[in-house]
Amino acid sequence: MASLLQIDLGPGRKRRVVGIDLGTTNSLVAYIDEHDQPGVIGADGDGIVPSVIAVLGQGDVVVGRRAKEHLFTDTEKTVYSVKRLMGKSYNDVERDTHLLSYRLAPRREGLVRVEIAGTEYTPIELSAMILRDLKARAEEHFGETVTAAVITVPAYFNDAQRQATKDAGKLAGLDVLRILNEPTAAALAYGLDQERKGTVAVYDLGGGTFDISILRLEGGVYQVLATGGDTYLGGDDIDQAIMTRLRSELAEQHGVAEVTPQELQQIRDAAERAKQALSTAEEIAMEFTLADHAVTFHRAFRRDELEEIAGPIIERTMEPCRRALRDAGLAAAGIDAVVLVGGSTRMPLVKQRVGEIFEREPFDSLNPDEVVALGAAIQADVLSGNRRDTLLLDVVPLSLGIETVGGMMSVLIPRNTTIPTQVRDHYTTFVDNQTGININVYQGEREFVRDNRQLAAFTLGPLPPLPAGMPKIEVAFTIDADGILRVKAKDMRTGTEQEIDVRPSYGLTEDEVERMLRESIERAQDDINERMVVEARTEAETLIQAATKTVEKHADLVEAGERERIEEIIGRMREAMHGGDHRLIREITEELDHVTEPLAQRVMNDSVQKGIGQKKIEEV
Ligand code: AMP
Repeated sequence: MASLLQIDLGPGRKRRVVGIDLGTTNSLVAYIDEHDQPGVIGADGDGIVPSVIAVLGQGDVVVGRRAKEHLFTDTEKTVYSVKRLMGKSYNDVERDTHLLSYRLAPRREGLVRVEIAGTEYTPIELSAMILRDLKARAEEHFGETVTAAVITVPAYFNDAQRQATKDAGKLAGLDVLRILNEPTAAALAYGLDQERKGTVAVYDLGGGTFDISILRLEGGVYQVLATGGDTYLGGDDIDQAIMTRLRSELAEQHGVAEVTPQELQQIRDAAERAKQALSTAEEIAMEFTLADHAVTFHRAFRRDELEEIAGPIIERTMEPCRRALRDAGLAAAGIDAVVLVGGSTRMPLVKQRVGEIFEREPFDSLNPDEVVALGAAIQADVLSGNRRDTLLLDVVPLSLGIETVGGMMSVLIPRNTTIPTQVRDHYTTFVDNQTGININVYQGEREFVRDNRQLAAFTLGPLPPLPAGMPKIEVAFTIDADGILRVKAKDMRTGTEQEIDVRPSYGLTEDEVERMLRESIERAQDDINERMVVEARTEAETLIQAATKTVEKHADLVEAGERERIEEIIGRMREAMHGGDHRLIREITEELDHVTEPLAQRVMNDSVQKGIGQKKIEEV
């Protein structure tokens, strides 16, 4: 009998999936080759593509180094740091417009847009231009089409920002298999090289964002214990601080008070070059010419002066590190290794401060510019089915929940929960005959939703009118591996259900995340007091309604003076409910409970007697 023999095609890859680090300043593509070796596209840093786009005319778009050249000549048509705009509204980024040399359309509604020569572009379209360029480079490298990728984002990106990144990938013709947190990608790259077990802190200071993550590596599983950071902190800020100093010197020494956008770019460029050179040199000579003012500026620049300028900016990364340690329930001694990621970690002062806070030498053997892309490539390899030994888990940065009676936040998924995750909880109505239930979804750490951030709202219905407390509503929160939240509400009696994917149109800056966390700590006591008042009121209201209903329905069982007594207590209770003393409300609630107990007992006896004949309950 003939039998089939499987033909071995050799160590080929099942599907070409690349890892993309879509950075604020630079982007990079990496891959895993036929021999399981990681590599980046372009040798000797050549594959690093500045995340800069020049839109010179309809269909005339250049990206990367070539686009960077246009920063000087076509300043208003050249876009950088577009990642900062992803998933944001104009209001979110308005305070930074003076730092940008291109124009944002001043529209108050919806997502921010960049205006270039009268045409508006979304950050998604602009990011897609970068991704298209990266895709083309990869295709040239492999000599075949590339259709799928893993793209990295900062750990603090919210749903809108993650979704925007995914959409940009799609627009560029890429199937985005996973949106991966940058520090997690770095840990992956690190784990591959070292095969270490233990707890790792990933300190990622790039051009525009700062991320700190604490991860536990165990048996091939990378679990994120805590994340923190600042989406508005990075090497760009150091450049800005240097520029401020240079501009005041230009004003003092050369009388150049105002500069053209082109000149501003020149100063920015000089500042960045000086900063980078001082990572290895102790002192450099700085020189540049402002063409429009015909001024040549030069001065010596020493590392200690740079450190004096950059020190306060680097210091701002320290508190998120301390908080991440606290969130992970660890002391510095609990960290086994510290990994450095991002171009700015080449600065000696950064290495020193990171070493001090985590009480150990940071691990910097991997190229800090490549580490994220390499980790993304490893994840891409896992998802393309080439590798089975790695599983990735991330966490949610802020608690997620829904609004309940009295405007309280009912948390379904607490902050720092590992994702993907699914949580279900059950709720009921507080008012009789509700035919629709509003599900308001919030993000934040405070006890009351008004202090948190609304993500979505929808109504579950129509529902059959029922007395309060009768319906059983199940609410399920599911967060997928990309950190995108799906909220589902179901009426268990009728099976009616409604679901929503949360894609908030407004972004959340790291400042806001920080503020929310800080306030949740500072206001914890006030919040608890208020929660107790609200809970006492809710309980009181429930008892008032039950007592009133019983008195009306069983008037025949109410004894002389009983109704008056109950009404008098309800009167006092209503008064107490207006005030903020939860102890008083509770006292009166207990009094009402106590006073209505004999009536409740009679009602029960009565219904039991009706049910089993004319016997008294004591006789049964
Ligand atoms: P990334 O976002 O990771 O690509 O990092 C880019 C940032 O790293 C920019 O602010 C660069 O100026 C900065 N950077 C790159 N190389 C160096 C260096 N040698 N020293 C200091 N900063 C650097």
